Amino acid sequence: MTAIDIPGTDQDLRAALADVNLPTLLLVIAELSGDDVWLSPRYQPEPIVVPEGSLFPDDSGNYSDEIASEIREAAFELLSNLRDRGGELPPPPDLERMRQLMEFSTAEEVEDEFCAMLLEETGFVDRDEQWRSQIRTVAGGEQIDNFQVLVVGAGLSGICTGVKLKDAGIDFTIVEKNAAVGGTWYENTYPDCGVDTPNHFYSYSFERNPNWTGYFSKRDELYQYFENCTDKFGIRDAIQFNTEVQGMHFDEDSGLWQVRVRRDNGAEEILAANVVVSAVGQLNRPSIPEFPGLDSFAGESFHSARWRHDVDLEGKRVAVIGTGCSAVQLLPKTAAKAAHVSLFQRSPHWISPNKDYYRPVEKGLIWALNHIPRYAEWHRARMIFGFMDRNWPAVPADPQWEHPERAMSEVNDGLREALTSYISEQLGERQDLMEKCVPDFPVFGKRLIIDNNWYPTVARENVDLVTDPIAALTPNGVRTADGTEHDVDVIVFATGFNTNQFLWPMEVTGRSGTTLRERWGDYPRAYKGILVPDYPNLFCLYGPNTNIVHGGSIIYTIECQVHYMMQCLALMLSRRASALEIPEAINDEYNAEVQQISQHLAWGHPGVQSWYKNSAGKVVNNSPFSNLEYWQRTHDVEPNRYQMN
Ligand code: NAP
Repeated sequence: MTAIDIPGTDQDLRAALADVNLPTLLLVIAELSGDDVWLSPRYQPEPIVVPEGSLFPDDSGNYSDEIASEIREAAFELLSNLRDRGGELPPPPDLERMRQLMEFSTAEEVEDEFCAMLLEETGFVDRDEQWRSQIRTVAGGEQIDNFQVLVVGAGLSGICTGVKLKDAGIDFTIVEKNAAVGGTWYENTYPDCGVDTPNHFYSYSFERNPNWTGYFSKRDELYQYFENCTDKFGIRDAIQFNTEVQGMHFDEDSGLWQVRVRRDNGAEEILAANVVVSAVGQLNRPSIPEFPGLDSFAGESFHSARWRHDVDLEGKRVAVIGTGCSAVQLLPKTAAKAAHVSLFQRSPHWISPNKDYYRPVEKGLIWALNHIPRYAEWHRARMIFGFMDRNWPAVPADPQWEHPERAMSEVNDGLREALTSYISEQLGERQDLMEKCVPDFPVFGKRLIIDNNWYPTVARENVDLVTDPIAALTPNGVRTADGTEHDVDVIVFATGFNTNQFLWPMEVTGRSGTTLRERWGDYPRAYKGILVPDYPNLFCLYGPNTNIVHGGSIIYTIECQVHYMMQCLALMLSRRASALEIPEAINDEYNAEVQQISQHLAWGHPGVQSWYKNSAGKVVNNSPFSNLEYWQRTHDVEPNRYQMN
């Protein structure tokens, strides 16, 4: 039993209760009081609704003033009593209780599997227990003493891997090409760079941060979070910074991966490891299209992920090429500074309003997340319920739907309509821009971008939205196919990343002497996105077909993968196997299913041209599963599927 320890004054508590979400608070009161009167119809919240024109839910419960103050008053009585007289935390909910509480607080049916996932995501159930106890049985033995893991990258996935390996007592080294941790949140520093998944979900389940200052934090706060995790979990000493992996090969004789690294002084070295975890991400090798005349431009030019803070845009003529997530974030501040912006759009994206994008987290909520017992757990559970797979029903194709050219289904078409109205409303007097701004592919064909005042910025007098294709770069700027010369002083390439070449530019050679590049060509594929036949003991995190488009948090996906990888290690160690490999036939079967499903999802729609697809139209980046299904598929390792020796 854990003693309840609530700090602060009556005033602190009342201030917190004024800011918290009432359906969440009811779960806390029901749990701490042990009195289910708080789950009676009188306090039943209204169902979560999605306000028109927004894809983000209103989960306030819509209580009358009378009921709202009754709930707050009861919470005050209970919590101040616990603070003054002490008490003990009740045991964590079991599956049935989780379902009962979630169904009450959402006014919807909630599947058992979803509740099982929530029990882990909230920490009520320790998801690591199985692999931890399996590994402990071999601890101290020769097997684990001679076992070394090399992790490539100290971004979101690498940090997560390091934390779990350390917990398991397995020796590991992380090599990182940069001088710091954080990966994407270290490298991207463009104006308004931030996350588009709510932070209270976009954080490790084992390190919830109650102190996020915004619901969608900006880059510096995210970067600091990953720095803090590195120190808090004591993995910094295991990281070799400024060290880039050039290549690696599996040495059949020793059964070890031989990994060639280059230090920042140019020296090369071979590091040997039983297991390699590639934690290199999908979105960190900037892509600049090979426009004719690319090198002829005489002004300054740079990629969004390599923002040049030394180039002052004040009063300059700036070209921004690309209209994806990065461009949507960086455009408003750029246009406010520049004399003129020429914005080059190849295709418009769907953009969603979100009233909470710049909303600071209320002080009282921060207090509650820190000090009200169980509030943070239920807050996360409901956040996941509201955001994770809520959009999934709009993703698959309805074979009966009559307008497959523009939408996947009636629900999907409803979103198209709502978002089209939003564009029109946002453009105000500039309805002439409608045609250029409304995408012709279904919603969720590409990641839905969260609005950062895009349309009013595009409609500004000093911004030109150019949709003629780019023909060439010239010494003075950009020439479009219609022959127009767009003279500029600076070019910003917001043109995305080399995404289809997973693990690139590392040269990774398997048992048979074949490199991943040769094996995959432009069709990268892996079992569950993690394991590749012929490459034993190699685990890819955020690998092929694991990107998420419809919602969710990539940190959740990464935790699913690290969990699966740790179970594979536990399996190897307990079976005294030196190599674990997925057979070709199982990988083929899995990927045939991935492709079969993907064809019928929004991002597989024939009208979608994107980096999610390869030259043959196969979707190679995105997961074909809901986030819940991916959790299920990575929850338990299947020993019979692997070859081990
Ligand atoms: P992106 O989504 O790949 O967008 C690249 C843009 O450049 C697109 O508009 C693309 O046009 C355009 N482009 C590419 N090649 C071109 C060419 N040859 N000529 C003209 N235009 C060209 O890249 P991103 O905006 O950097 O975002 C990448 C991913 O990073 C996102 O999908 C998201 O997952 C992540 N991200 C997330 C956040 C966030 O959390 N808030 C922020 C930034 C990025 P088309 O659309 O026609 O292909």
